[in-house]
Amino acid sequence: MNGLNIRKLTRFQKYVILGGGVAAGYAALEFVRRNGGASSQELCIISDEHTRRVYRHFILALVLRMSYLPKNGIVLVLGTRVISADVRQKTLLTSSGETISYKTLIVATGARAVKLEEFGVSGSDARNVCYLRNVEDADKLVGVMRSCPGGNAVVVGGGYIGMECAAALVTNNIKVTMVFPEKHCMGRLFTPKIAEFYESYYASRGVTFVKEAAVTSMQISAGKVTAVNLGNGRRLPADMVVVGVGARANTGLFDGQLVMENGGIKVNGRMQASDASVYAVGDVAAFPVKLFGGDVRRLEHVDCARRTARHAVAAMLEGTGSVGHIDYLPFFYSRVFSLSWQFYGDNAGEAVHFGDLAPPGDGDGAAPKFGAYWVRDGRVAGAFLEGGSRQEYEAVAAAVRRGAAVADVAELERRGLAFATQA
Ligand code: FAD
Ligand code: NDP
Repeated sequence: MNGLNIRKLTRFQKYVILGGGVAAGYAALEFVRRNGGASSQELCIISDEHTRRVYRHFILALVLRMSYLPKNGIVLVLGTRVISADVRQKTLLTSSGETISYKTLIVATGARAVKLEEFGVSGSDARNVCYLRNVEDADKLVGVMRSCPGGNAVVVGGGYIGMECAAALVTNNIKVTMVFPEKHCMGRLFTPKIAEFYESYYASRGVTFVKEAAVTSMQISAGKVTAVNLGNGRRLPADMVVVGVGARANTGLFDGQLVMENGGIKVNGRMQASDASVYAVGDVAAFPVKLFGGDVRRLEHVDCARRTARHAVAAMLEGTGSVGHIDYLPFFYSRVFSLSWQFYGDNAGEAVHFGDLAPPGDGDGAAPKFGAYWVRDGRVAGAFLEGGSRQEYEAVAAAVRRGAAVADVAELERRGLAFATQA
């Protein structure tokens, strides 16, 4: 991206997207799609990320490289942090001292990594402690990993980042110990049975688990962590530490100005906040999920970012009434080693497992395929599937989407995947 394509900021922009991540990219694309080629400088994207960092996001990488957005009249203001917002006045103040006023604002500020300091543990700024949120973080992680070939990594957290980084690190010949406070990994999504499979798989690849344990302090020497101390008295030697203990939505600019829920900006089914001139999309938005009876959820995933962004732009451009309320099927996925799973819906109700959950080594060597349905009020509310084909994933998603009726749980267990694929 060269500077020529970045237009000078005007003081008034009819539409402003605040943020330069996945949701912002998709909102801009939808805007261009609906507004035709010449969007006449009506829409401006403001992001504190510089071009290089924006490239972490596939879609913006694509569109920026092709200069697609500037060519279509979108004003890009990159490397610019918004430091305050006045919702009533409809203005944003940037770190360069510029005030931008708008008619409509789309907030797409995403989330930030939770720091260990928030749990009373200091040392996050040590040279070999890694968090993961942007490309700089990823570059640091790779650099630190390369600086200690065959060394010891302590991975703090048993969620998405913990699981995906642990797999990547052992694959790169680093010895990994995972530490987390829950009874099993991915505690908010996996059942104990599902977790047991992945933990056994990880153990077979050399990952050690220290469960139900908290990091209490880190021993630091010459700016680097040398050991991690746990509440149970154990001390784990460390050449590097990776921390993935959750994310918090970046709502700070709007605290006290917009209604918040579940740690995010509360929006209606049109993705509109408590002030009608503001929309919120992606990680920062807490929106009603029709499928869950209108329960307000904040879903930190790319698919959600894409869909909420598109929906907000459609609602913003088409005016009241013509665009209905979003009807989103929550979707999560992860790929580690040669494994790959997808989850749809809600993991609420009774979990009914199917397929071969035998730990690696106990099976016949075939790629694992198993899953679970969650049954609530006699209907499928959620479904998890490891190792499915495209058609199988689509089938379980469809079962959740239509809330397939379950007359007999034992029969559901017996039929397993066929319940969805042969419906
Ligand atoms: P983001 O993509 O985080 O974008 C927020 C943007 O706002 C950034 O550009 C930020 O710099 C900017 N910003 C924030 N505050 C300001 C401000 N004051 N001024 C200017 N700009 C500001 N999800 C999946 O579904 N699958 C995955 O495999 C997956 N892998 C992930 C791996 C990692 C390491 C991480 C951290 C997340 C992953 N996610 C994944 C989650 C996914 O990345 C997020 O859900 C998604 O990026 C949310 O999009 P967003 O646009 O809301 O936020
Ligand atoms: P997650 O919320 O997935 O996991 C955080 C984990 O850390 C939880 O298991 C949590 O336990 C645990 N934890 C909380 N406090 C502590 C503590 N003091 N010590 C040790 N463990 C602790 O967040 P991540 O950090 O893994 O991921 C951050 C963001 O990145 C999320 O938005 C996630 O969706 C996204 N992401 C998504 C990926 C994907 O979709 N494939 C891949 C990578 C990241 P508890 O549940 O008890 O709080």
